[in-house]
Amino acid sequence: MLWSASLCVVFLVPSLGVPVDRYSTKGQQKLLLISFDGFRWDYDRDVDTPNLDTMARDGVKASYVTPPFLTVTSPTHFTLLTGRYIENHGVIHNMWFDVNTGEKVPYYATQFKTEWWDNGTLPIWITAQRQGLRTGSLHFPGTQPRYQGESQTVKDVEPGFYNYKNETKWRQNVDKVMETWFGEMDLDFVSLYFGEPDGVGHKYGPDSPERREMVGQVDRTVGYIRSSAEHNGLADSLNIIITADHGMSNVYRNGLVKEITLSKIPGFSFGDVSFHLLDYGPAGMLLPKPGMLETVYKALKGAHPHLHVFKKEEIPERLHFANNNRILPIILFSDPGYVINGFFPVQFNAGEHGFDNVEMDMKPFFRAVGPAFQKNLEVGPFETVNIYPLMCHILGIMPESNDGHLDVTKHMLVSATEDRPQDFRRNVSVGLAAVGGCLVVVVAVLVSFHAFKKETNYRGSEGSVRPGSKEESPQTAL
Ligand SMILES: [Zn+2]
Repeated sequence: MLWSASLCVVFLVPSLGVPVDRYSTKGQQKLLLISFDGFRWDYDRDVDTPNLDTMARDGVKASYVTPPFLTVTSPTHFTLLTGRYIENHGVIHNMWFDVNTGEKVPYYATQFKTEWWDNGTLPIWITAQRQGLRTGSLHFPGTQPRYQGESQTVKDVEPGFYNYKNETKWRQNVDKVMETWFGEMDLDFVSLYFGEPDGVGHKYGPDSPERREMVGQVDRTVGYIRSSAEHNGLADSLNIIITADHGMSNVYRNGLVKEITLSKIPGFSFGDVSFHLLDYGPAGMLLPKPGMLETVYKALKGAHPHLHVFKKEEIPERLHFANNNRILPIILFSDPGYVINGFFPVQFNAGEHGFDNVEMDMKPFFRAVGPAFQKNLEVGPFETVNIYPLMCHILGIMPESNDGHLDVTKHMLVSATEDRPQDFRRNVSVGLAAVGGCLVVVVAVLVSFHAFKKETNYRGSEGSVRPGSKEESPQTAL
């Protein structure tokens, strides 16, 4: 009987004691994480956005969220997927680079550099799958590589030369996610990426009519996503989080500002630098040649009133952008309105991101709706590292080590007093089912053992043990 008693303990402990199960909605709620690249927190203020407004009434709206620094696409998206600051997840730039060979690979090609992404931190797809869920990702940065040899259940990697703006394509992607992935394949978690309004924000600037028009397209798509969830019978089970990776800020040129061009700064020489990442908007990094760190640093520090220069170890703690071997020894970033040029101005975008994440222009929007979320609730700002533990909570999975806290976002959820009794009832029923199961096992064992003893005794009667002998008595101890 000892083994059957042990079996009961094995059944009972997980149902009564493991925290992840206690608060879990596993098997009941799904989650769709959507990023509209570069959707600044205030983009709905000068455009009619009926669908985003409806979503806010049906769910939760944050005044804005704060992305991690460096405020560029791949690093900030990987923070959404991992809950870690950029220095801690290691995807420190949009570009893969090698300081020894001088090689640099642009954003899209870096999506295929597995070693850049798979460097020790697991994105939520893999964590969820290791805990029994099924996941998918469509065009989200970081979708392509395998992590520790594992991949999403299903993925759709953005093709090269993809038309980010095509609304028909957007709807086809939504159909694929809703009908096929959540519907037919019954996935639990999907991340979905749209490349706008980042594109128009760069090209025409955040104050342009083109940007406002694209926000209208985003809004129509949000309406399409929500009605698609409804049509596919997902409204009661699917939670939808919509956010972005960073905002956008105007860049001034044509004599409106004194541009930052490093080659023109007295005392600075590219001959003192063995590798640089420059001409990438408002942020840059330098690797000085051996023994030249102080020379390079002193030449640049204070050289332009809108250029910030830090040795890696001096960068403000709040930026969380130092503690990684991939980050180079000197870090530069400019104030809004300015970009950093190497030899001469080569960037002609009207809008840029990559600035300090305290700048309001760098803050993305955040909306959430679904059975896990409160309705018609507007909440204050929070850092995007906190979205990861929120997602893990909704999916009922144990998060990896991360820099976020569920405490920051849990007030957005259906309240603890409403939530926990449901979970408690569920756990009680699971526990009772386990007890019942154990009793069945015990009874079955007793009956089998009794029958076995009878059989043994009967056989024994053919041998040396007679029926009614003292050897029958031990079964009474059961
Ligand atoms: Zn972006």
